[in-house]
Formats: sequence, structure tokens, C-alpha cells
Amino acid sequence: MEYFLSEQQKTIKSLARRIAEERILPVRAELDEKEEFPWAIMKDLADADMFRVFIPEEYEGLGGGCLELCLVVEELSRVCGAVATCYAVNALGCFTLMDCGTEEQKRKYLPDVASGKRLTAFAITEPTAGSDVGAIKTTAERVEGGYVLNGTKQYITNGGEAEIYTVIALTDKTKGARGASALLVEKDTPGFSFGKKEKKMGIRASATRELIFRNCLVPEENLIGKEGAGFIMTMKLFDKSRPGIGAQAVGLAQGALEAAVDYTRQRIQFGQPLISLPVVQDILADMATQVEAARALVYAAARTVDSGAKKVTEESAMAKVFASDVAMKVTIDAVQICGGAGYMRDYPLEKMMRDAKITQIYEGSNQVLRNAIAIELRKRRAKTE
Ligand SMILES: Cc1cc2nc3c(=O)[nH]c(=O)nc-3n(C[C@H](O)[C@H](O)[C@H](O)COP(=O)(O)OP(=O)(O)OC[C@H]3O[C@@H](n4cnc5c(N)ncnc54)[C@H](O)[C@@H]3O)c2cc1C
Repeated sequence: MEYFLSEQQKTIKSLARRIAEERILPVRAELDEKEEFPWAIMKDLADADMFRVFIPEEYEGLGGGCLELCLVVEELSRVCGAVATCYAVNALGCFTLMDCGTEEQKRKYLPDVASGKRLTAFAITEPTAGSDVGAIKTTAERVEGGYVLNGTKQYITNGGEAEIYTVIALTDKTKGARGASALLVEKDTPGFSFGKKEKKMGIRASATRELIFRNCLVPEENLIGKEGAGFIMTMKLFDKSRPGIGAQAVGLAQGALEAAVDYTRQRIQFGQPLISLPVVQDILADMATQVEAARALVYAAARTVDSGAKKVTEESAMAKVFASDVAMKVTIDAVQICGGAGYMRDYPLEKMMRDAKITQIYEGSNQVLRNAIAIELRKRRAKTE
């Protein structure tokens, strides 16, 4: 399929593919087995200017947008969904700062993110606030010179590894979600520590930890945007970041498709390669069609985000939901047509299947996002009546 990428976009995509094949492929199984954060690969990505891709030029980035980010995430995920997560979450961790931060905040933090010197993370989820993010309890009490954070964040990607955290907390707990604000918290701030590292089904090389705040004083200049705007900024952030999860899903599905084609071409049963069996051909044809449809939707959603369109909730949610469902189906089908080999850890498919599952869960589960899409449909119809 022709996606009319610019020369720069093609260069970014092929560079990401090269790093994935040369640096990630040889170690992906080991990283998964050891559940080890891929610091050496983060350095390779930094050396290749991959962290600059999604940062504006004035802050030492390459000035790319959502589509450029998706191209890198797709290529990394084609080889390893976990490494792609460790990389992609840096965009999630600094998009709010990029869109709503002051000039001073951006100058202070973004060049270090662009160079890959400091990783970032984003924290809203809590033990009692998952899909219902409006139920967060972490507080940021206003005091002389800043805010005192108290509470626990759960399941935070890059937790413990990142140095800059965008944390959503209540500056006014009487107002619920409308009293939430976004604060930048640096790793070494007194009162900020890390709880348990989660043991996960998939994306095991990525770190998922609890963040614990106990009387943690954050300077007032670290407030992003206005007090009380934290929840709205988060919804806008997810509108912008969800195509990236779609891209992760597309990459995983593409990787599984290629591995399944390779395996079924060389596996001989009943005197012929498996790929000669009509039933296998049907499955592969469906897999390929679904991957391409998901890619088209993800690129279209990313381009809509980059167009500066005011509201992209629906497009962005559709891309994430569709692509992640495709990734799950395609990776399961790939395991199936490769039989016992597909199930074994010597082959990459069982890992791709485990990695794909998370794309249906994080940044809004697919059930919650289907609700969101339906609400938008209803609103649009009501406007025409
Ligand atoms: C590996 C991993 C990494 C993560 N990284 C981050 C991160 O970096 N930062 C961060 O802030 N969070 C992060 N999260 C949290 C993630 O976004 C949440 O797990 C997700 O939003 C779902 O919340 P929950 O796990 O509490 O599930 P729950 O909200 O308890 O939902 C459980 C089930 O109920 C369904 N459900 C809930 N409400 C509804 C509804 N209204 N309608 C229909 N179905 C519903 C859900 O779809 C789901 O199937 C991460 C999670 C994981 C697993």
C-alpha cells in the first residue's frame, strides 16, 4: 500500500527498522526472559536521534509529529513490543509539557528528552482509579512555594527508570476530576520513591512500577498549565498518544505475519509446505489484510492529529481499538498456524502474542474506548436533529 510518506518520514522509518533488526532482534528473547530494562538499546536510539523525532525543533528535536512517532514505534514493535513501549512512553511523558508548559519549563526539560539523556513517564493510574481516572486520590496540597504530593500511582511505565514524571494529582479534592492538576516531578525529589516492579505477561523488558509520594514537595514552577486543568489535559494527551498504541499493535501484527509466512514456507507436512494448504493461505490472507487496514487507519488518525484538528477523540480511539484487536487476532492466528513451534519460546510468536495483549488494555481499555466512540456518535447525531 502506498502511504505517500515524505522523504524524511521514509528515512526515519528505515533507520528505526535498521536499529530494530541490528540491535534489538539479537537480544529481544533475552531481554524478555530476564525482564531487563533495555538501557543499551535506549542509548542506541538516542545516538540515532530517535528521541528527537517527536520534539519540536526549537527544543533540539526534529519537529516531527504523531505520524513520525508512529513510524518509529511500528518498526520497533515489529521486532519487540517491549522496547517500543520503553521508547514510546517518553512521548506520553512529555506531550502535556510540550502542549501546555511554559517556555521556561520546555527549555529546562525538552532538550534532555530529545537527546535521550533523561527518560520520561506519565502517571495518572492509581490502585482505586484505573478506567475511572476521575477517581484519583493523590493530592497536591498548595503550600508556600509549591505543592506537597501524597499518594500512590500504580502500573507506571518507565517507573523507576525515567527521571522526569508528569503526575496528575488533586490540587482541590472537593472538585474531583475538575480539581486535578499536572505536575512535573523529578526522580530525586525527596519524598518520591518507587514501590514494587510488576511481573507481567508481556512487554516484560519494559519497567512497570508504583510511584509513592510521601510529603513530596514539588516547586510551584513545576505546575503544567493551570490548576484544575489536569484532567482535560490528560484527555487531550490520550487523544494524541493513542495512535501510537495503534502503531505498536500494527508493528506487532506485522512481525507476527512475517514470522508466520517464513515458518509456513519452510515447514513440510504431508509432503508440501504448510503455506500450500488452502486453509493456511486463507488465514494468512486475512492476517495480511487486517494488518494493512489497521496501518491505514493508524496513519490516517496520526495525520488527523498532526493536522491540528480540534477534536480527534473518535479517530484516535478507533485507530487504537481496531489496531489492537487486529494485533491480538493476528498474533493468535500466527501461533496457531505455526503449531507447536508457535507455542515455543525458541520462536518469537508466543512473545508477540503476549505483548499484543497490553495494546487492548492500556491508555484506555478497548471497552472504555468503544464507549467513548459511541458517545461521540450519539453527540454528532444529536447535533443534526
Ligand atoms: C503494563 C501496563 C502499563 C501501564 N502504564 C501506565 C502508565 O504509564 N501510566 C498510567 O497512568 N497508567 C498506566 N497503566 C494503567 C492502564 O492505563 C490501566 O490498567 C487501564 O486504563 C485499565 O485500568 P485497570 O487496569 O484499573 O482496569 P479496570 O478499570 O479495573 O477495568 C477492568 C475491566 O473492566 C472494564 N471496564 C471498566 N470500566 C468500564 C466501563 N465503564 N465500561 C465497560 N468496561 C469497563 C475494562 O475494560 C477492563 O476490561 C498501565 C497498565 C499496564 C497493565
